[in-house]
Amino acid sequence: MDEPDVMPDDAPRGSGTLRNKRIVIIGAGIGGLTAALAFARRGANVHIYEQASALNEVGAGIQVTPNGSRVLAELGLSDAMDAASIVAQAVMPTDAISGKVIARFDLSSQVPPYRFFHRAALVEMIAQGAQAAGVEISFDVRVESIAKDGTLNTNIGEVSCDLCVGADGIHSISRLLLGNTAEPEFTGQVAWRATIVAKDVEPVARIWMAPNRHVVTYPLAENLLNIVAVQERDTWAQEGWKHSDDPDNLRAAFADTCPQLRDILGQVSETYLWGLFRHPVAKQWHNDSLVILGDAAHPTLPFLAQGANLAIEDAYFLARCCDEADDLATALARFQHERALRVSRAIAAANANARNYHLSGLTRSLAHTGLKTLGFVAPDA
Ligand code: FAD
Repeated sequence: MDEPDVMPDDAPRGSGTLRNKRIVIIGAGIGGLTAALAFARRGANVHIYEQASALNEVGAGIQVTPNGSRVLAELGLSDAMDAASIVAQAVMPTDAISGKVIARFDLSSQVPPYRFFHRAALVEMIAQGAQAAGVEISFDVRVESIAKDGTLNTNIGEVSCDLCVGADGIHSISRLLLGNTAEPEFTGQVAWRATIVAKDVEPVARIWMAPNRHVVTYPLAENLLNIVAVQERDTWAQEGWKHSDDPDNLRAAFADTCPQLRDILGQVSETYLWGLFRHPVAKQWHNDSLVILGDAAHPTLPFLAQGANLAIEDAYFLARCCDEADDLATALARFQHERALRVSRAIAAANANARNYHLSGLTRSLAHTGLKTLGFVAPDA
């Protein structure tokens, strides 16, 4: 399927529509911070309002695939990424029961690179880039509602702007204000996250696949291994990174797996359980003065490592659309039209991986899994 590139090399550099425009962004997550940087680099005055009292990403990992790292490089963060991330050498689907490595998909020649980040380091890096470009960030400000003319009501009073970008995550009020009423629902999957200290960790992502479950491991530093373990279950679990769980529950869920994986899980001393929630891709992404991006518009299962990468792409493309169009209405319509196509494809691929990773007959889905893992990370994304 042909998809528009978020960032062609010969992109025209702006009609001046954004010069001195006041852009307000709700949310200092990965999507909001990247949007702030992208808008500021195109001449806009940008202010982020974040309800938390500080940048609040937790101590888990995140994979930034070439489509995401290409955008961040274009936004001037190449050196910062080199300093803050580990370059992935391969993805290795592995039979979690027998321990047999099924394939090794080489990533060593990916340009731009496929990277492993500490979430907090990624967020800090983009925030520093944004602040250096003149973006202001106000913490402890909760946006309560947004009027049709773009005036925001917050706990510190009214804020006005030319355009408000709702990068306010899966529980977005911006999405609701645009008339998208579907509530986030539990997907029947939970994810544990943990880190362990481990020696000489290889710079590869291992996907340990087992019926109804899988574990992804990759390094966050030379001696730190990130673990995300997913299990299908009927019972609801709370959402969020901060709900701690007994590591024995994690071990029990993978008790029948190979010694190598059990050894990794045996070293977990602290773990957090996250219920995976989703809502459908929003039908309406904008009105005249408000637009949504990232999880607010299109949350995805984390089985293709694309949620944040798509938010990064959205952010860049939104600023580009606004910069290139003669008026915001044209820009926002183009943004939704072109991005909806791509994010829907990514969500379908992540859903397919949910089935492939939890396969009952491991080898027969292998080729498919490999394609879904790597097919989406092409640098032209
Ligand atoms: P968020 O990160 O949710 O940010 C929203 C921000 O808005 C928050 O800071 C919030 O406090 C603020 N906010 C909300 N409402 C208001 C309000 N009213 N006023 C003010 N502020 C407000 N993605 C990848 O690309 N790669 C991966 O490897 C990956 N791994 C994952 C693993 C797991 C287990 C999970 C659950 C997800 C994973 N993801 C991954 C997905 C990724 O984490 C999300 O898609 C991404 O963080 C969404 O970013 P966002 O900026 O859209 O939203």
